[in-house]
Amino acid sequence: MRTLVLVLITGLFFMSCNQTDKLSKATTDCKTQKETSQPIVNTKNNTMEKIVKSDEEWKSELTEMEYHVLRNKGTERAGTGDLLNNKGTGTYICRGCGLELFDSETKYESGSGWPSFYAPVNETNVGENTDNSHGMKRVEVVCARCDGHLGHVFPDGPRPTGMRYCINAVSLDFTSKEEK
Ligand SMILES: [Zn+2]
Repeated sequence: MRTLVLVLITGLFFMSCNQTDKLSKATTDCKTQKETSQPIVNTKNNTMEKIVKSDEEWKSELTEMEYHVLRNKGTERAGTGDLLNNKGTGTYICRGCGLELFDSETKYESGSGWPSFYAPVNETNVGENTDNSHGMKRVEVVCARCDGHLGHVFPDGPRPTGMRYCINAVSLDFTSKEEK
């Protein structure tokens, strides 16, 4: 009887261990696992610390248009974005959480009316989801940290990637490298 109880307890321990592993994507065992509360910016291989806020919080921090696009997957009118014709050297960051998303080096004139890039700053910061809304099959582009909607990616971009990241300007902020 005692052995049975021991087996059960051991089993439960391993189950909870596995679940914690899955949740935190940690590869180490439970004993060495540590909680990290610092958000990781511009990371390459590490787990992204997500930013989760209620709708009310987002509404209080964003303008109506920013909220409409970032949180409700809206789209700004073509040709209206404040960063559409920005040609400065620097980094485009998420207007929701400040995460680096695109480098000015990859921005190009697509003629679509929305800021266009041929590559994200890295594969970690920009996430992609299948989007079958509006009777179309598209790939949605999101900020990997706050899940803010950015736009869509299409396979009709220029070299070297052949991809066109079609991004709402209202989802972005720009930090210039020339400012000192
Ligand atoms: Zn974000």
